[in-house]
Amino acid sequence: MPAPKTPPPAKPCLFCGQPMEWRRVLAKTWDTVKYCSTACTRQANRQRRQAGETIWELPPAPTNGRGVRVWTAKKPRTKKK
Ligand SMILES: [Zn+2]
Repeated sequence: MPAPKTPPPAKPCLFCGQPMEWRRVLAKTWDTVKYCSTACTRQANRQRRQAGETIWELPPAPTNGRGVRVWTAKKPRTKKK
């Protein structure tokens, strides 16, 4: 899938509200990117879990600088109280 010629506009992180700029490495996942960082993803998911939702989502993909994803999908650990 070719990257669009005009990058999509920045959109705000759903957790902290900071604008996220489109980047080429996000081309494939841009539609599903909601948070600016893994920290925001975790905290937002934690809040949603506390609200009774059972969900888990992949964090935005960090890369090794060459556009290669370096994470592997994992279920988040549930903290014991
Ligand atoms: Zn954020």
